[in-house]
Amino acid sequence: MASTGFWSREGENAAGDSNQSPSTPRAWCLAAQKFTGDLGSKLYALLNVGEGNKTASSATKKVLAASENCDCNKPCNCSKRNLDLSNLYSTDLLPASDGDLATITFLQEVVDLMLAYIVTSFDRSTKVHIRGRASVRAAGVRHSEEDEEIIGWQDGQGDGIFSPGGAISNMYAMLVARFKMFPEVKEKGMSSVPRLAAFTSEHSHFSIKKGAAALGIGTDSVICIKADESGKMMPLDLERRIVEAKQKGLVPFFVSATAGTTVYGAFDPLHAVADICKKHNIWMHVDGAWGGSLLMSRKHRWKLDGVERANSVTWNPHKMMSVPLQSSALLVREEGLMQNCNQLQACYLFQQDKHYDLSYDTGDKALQCGRHVDIFKLWLMWRAKGTFGFEAQIDKCLELSEYLYNKIKDREGYEMVFDGKPQHTNVCFWYLPPGIRYLEDKEERRRRLHKVAPAIKARMMENGTTMVSYQPQGDKVNFFRMVISNPAATFEDIDFLIEEIDRLGQDL
Ligand SMILES: *Cc1c(COP(=O)(O)O)cnc(C)c1O
Repeated sequence: MASTGFWSREGENAAGDSNQSPSTPRAWCLAAQKFTGDLGSKLYALLNVGEGNKTASSATKKVLAASENCDCNKPCNCSKRNLDLSNLYSTDLLPASDGDLATITFLQEVVDLMLAYIVTSFDRSTKVHIRGRASVRAAGVRHSEEDEEIIGWQDGQGDGIFSPGGAISNMYAMLVARFKMFPEVKEKGMSSVPRLAAFTSEHSHFSIKKGAAALGIGTDSVICIKADESGKMMPLDLERRIVEAKQKGLVPFFVSATAGTTVYGAFDPLHAVADICKKHNIWMHVDGAWGGSLLMSRKHRWKLDGVERANSVTWNPHKMMSVPLQSSALLVREEGLMQNCNQLQACYLFQQDKHYDLSYDTGDKALQCGRHVDIFKLWLMWRAKGTFGFEAQIDKCLELSEYLYNKIKDREGYEMVFDGKPQHTNVCFWYLPPGIRYLEDKEERRRRLHKVAPAIKARMMENGTTMVSYQPQGDKVNFFRMVISNPAATFEDIDFLIEEIDRLGQDL
């Protein structure tokens, strides 16, 4: 029996023909013939090369043999079934020794998924459905397996767009928030609007200020709110600064709370921020570029409690979820707002008299015209790993960072930048070489410590063994910021890192 999707559509001689398995070159050739014109013949020629006298490696033969005997519609023992994609890392693939089987099976799975996708999108009856629904659904962060809302907006509400990164998603949020309060800004520009004020914590990402600059709001109109010792925005200071801005005649329109700050990995208290935004009628944005993916983890999603009260959320699958750059979404609670804010209905592209439901034309929500199909990589990974696969991957990274924290928090020569367990995978610490460890003179100690992290990082790069970023923050001199987002990392890697820093920094 032919397997699912692409292959079962072959029709004529499907039943009982093992050549119909997606994993055989013969079946690929048959499939290629389905495409008309140039594409079909090119694919056919490509796939048919050396078909007769192929000298497949024994590993290849083994995989092919396994899958030829397998219809893969039910539990079985073929190699494909045995390979857990959510647990497969680049280190398992070639050139790893014994990586042949894993590599071949992995690539076959990718090809199968992609061919199934291509066929569905070539099928006229589903074409619109795929283009429209796939992006809208994923942008609303629903996942197909359980069709459950991850953010938690009521009644499946939500709108969104994939953008070229978190910085742009944040700028979109500011744009939509301004439009919501002053729709006339779209036609009349900033001269029709009073002086605005936006609020974000002093630890927030620089893109909030860049967005304000780009939108003509100005960086001076972004008011930085104090963060506490562990990097969280202080709600009392937020409210105080909002009242103060109003007294000065400014109009507060936008608060950006950060879920997972870039340096400390801190999560702002979203419920407290939401209360203040509600009281003062201000748009609440959550910059979850880094920490938003924790929503995929049942163990860690409590850190974003209150995100369901946000008006908009930035979420970067290209960070914690390892989707290749770039994959970032801005999610907006109110449906239709982005469309109204950005659409111009260019008549040569977004014709209103098309023969299908125009709600599938989502392109006018964006500032861009031509765009990447950014959803595709995410969709493909989600199909392959599943929600549980992503969850396992995220939990693993957090477990590794906790392991690192536990190992260095009381270790001689290491000092944590802030007290307590990190909330995300950012572990911030100083390494104090023996020569600095017992210095009495505080100023001298600070001065020398400031130079340690850059010196060790330079040695790391010269040695080619590892690489950890560093930076100062506020009044704190340069410290290491170890961020774990690669689930293929191991406990041994962490042990090595600690030893390596000791080794490279001893004499400083
Ligand atoms: C990385 C980051 C951004 C920017 O995202 P890009 O995709 O690099 O543009 C915004 N906010 C936070 C909190 C980030 O960590």
